[in-house]
Amino acid sequence: MGTLLLNTPQKIHFFDIHTHKKCESESVFSIRNYFPEKLEEISQNEYYSVGIHPWNINLNFLLDDFYRLKDFVCKPNFIAVGEIGLDKLHPFFELQKDFFSQQASIAQHYSTPIIIHCVKAFNEVFSILKKMKITVPVIFHGYNGNLQTTKYCIEKGFYFSLGKDLFRENSNACLSLWHIPQRSLFFETDDSDYTIQDIYAKAAELLYMDLEKLKQQISENFNRCFSTSF
Ligand SMILES: [Zn+2]
Repeated sequence: MGTLLLNTPQKIHFFDIHTHKKCESESVFSIRNYFPEKLEEISQNEYYSVGIHPWNINLNFLLDDFYRLKDFVCKPNFIAVGEIGLDKLHPFFELQKDFFSQQASIAQHYSTPIIIHCVKAFNEVFSILKKMKITVPVIFHGYNGNLQTTKYCIEKGFYFSLGKDLFRENSNACLSLWHIPQRSLFFETDDSDYTIQDIYAKAAELLYMDLEKLKQQISENFNRCFSTSF
């Protein structure tokens, strides 16, 4: 741990925990998400996560993708397994569970945080994390769960990454923002057109919080959560 803390404290102001886009701003540290079949597009100076997305479960390519993922976890700049998870609105739900479990166990083995995509399947995700005895940091990306789910995640010490849903008044994300301990918060752009600066500013406004204080908090969260990744 420490490279990031030692080398970049003045430059980095914003952390984008999950994005599919390249970010050119020097003040933003972003974790770009790659799917295993696109790994050759990774450029040397970006940090990234890799995972088989539940939407991409495809019987023909699974095994190949899975082994490519295994190869990648030891490469420099790989800092999280993700996005992985379960999505009830997509097919092969049982297979999704297998792939989620196997990828979670890779993350556990390499002490790497997990970035989770979860749609209408929180109970199943929770039960897999429990069964697999996952102790590495878990981040629910694009979080928009209800209050009961939020409470469970808080109890388990999971992290929440909020994004574009903060701009929808009365969304679950907005309501959860009030309940999530600030030490468990992250923000992300995912594939939205908002910048990470927009999202921080919106969150600070909703929390009636000073933006600088919020930036400081997220930076602390990042260094704690990713302490084993550098
Ligand atoms: Zn995404």
